[in-house]
Amino acid sequence: MTHPFLDLPPLTAAHFAAIERRVAGLLATEQDVVITQGEALLPLEGCVRGGARPGSTALNVVTGPYGQTFGDWLRDCGAEVVDLVVPFHAAVTAEQVEQALAAHPEIDFVSLVHAEAATGNTNPVAEIGEAVRAHGALFMLDAVASVGAEPLLPDAWGVDLCVIGAQKAMGGPAGVSAVSVSERAWERLADNPRAPRRSYLSLLDWKSRWIDAGRTALPHAPAQLEMLALEACLERIEAEGLTTVTARHAAAAAATRAGAVALGGGLEPYVHEARDAAPVATTLRVPAGTDATALVRGALAVDPSLPLVAGGGALAAEMIRVNHYGADATRDAVLSSLAALGSALTDAGRATDLDAARDAVAEAWPND
Ligand SMILES: *Cc1c(COP(=O)(O)O)cnc(C)c1O
Repeated sequence: MTHPFLDLPPLTAAHFAAIERRVAGLLATEQDVVITQGEALLPLEGCVRGGARPGSTALNVVTGPYGQTFGDWLRDCGAEVVDLVVPFHAAVTAEQVEQALAAHPEIDFVSLVHAEAATGNTNPVAEIGEAVRAHGALFMLDAVASVGAEPLLPDAWGVDLCVIGAQKAMGGPAGVSAVSVSERAWERLADNPRAPRRSYLSLLDWKSRWIDAGRTALPHAPAQLEMLALEACLERIEAEGLTTVTARHAAAAAATRAGAVALGGGLEPYVHEARDAAPVATTLRVPAGTDATALVRGALAVDPSLPLVAGGGALAAEMIRVNHYGADATRDAVLSSLAALGSALTDAGRATDLDAARDAVAEAWPND
């Protein structure tokens, strides 16, 4: 008997190339797209190690834990690193980036995370891209948490390396990812003797063995199940319409933010300004005297399928993340999450108002 995951015919080069073109369509990019056979940290590390080298200076914008990781890789590569660290409750501004570039004219690489699911903020990439382009640095963007949740236009914004993964707002698999690579980025990688070559981290290998060779023969067996899942999630997004998908995420974020405030009990949006809050996930600060991990445990006891998680690392006591992305970017998931958090807060002795939360959600996300 054939198994649905097993016994599949091999994924052909033509099929692989067709999926690649669909990813390019999602990003509205004319640049080369490389599909990478692993979770998004694979192309992120490949981009940093390809772009940075001893003698280069990188501006690394830190608005959450991923920015911290990039800084470590950049230093590993021997680059000088200028860290622009922004409080996790805010976004970086284009002026801050401009000032950092002006203070360090030698900066030739900029790494930025578009939206951070871990901290719930989103950064103004279009304006930052203008500043980076004026300066002439290579611009790498981690768009894993923004793709599908908010507009993402790497070509229009001057992004040279735009990394995406399918596991968040795209509602797809975690084991495959992609990066769009500008002509400038290809030149920079090719010029870097330290850029990974003959390596799983190498984008240059994909260029020589796949793109420049006419996309006729795959360099190694593709991650077939992940590729099929990626294709399925692209089909689903195309069927719903990308703008409808992003609007659903924006509505989920607005409704969660408004609903949490109305719910009361001391919950507050972690990101101070609504314009800095990411559509992919909403972070909440728990009231003093309560513990976020315990509140999440209480809420999940109501319904273990809810998209709730406590903050990572040092944020585990103070932050709750509502991961309303992908299949959870629904009014139901938002309302059920707020109800379960209300119940956990009530158990912790806090007064909450679920009716007010429902009204706030209905107002922020009217029934269509
Ligand atoms: C989720 C995410 C990734 C991918 O990391 P995972 O921990 O595997 O989910 C990368 N960058 C950002 C900004 C993310 O939000």
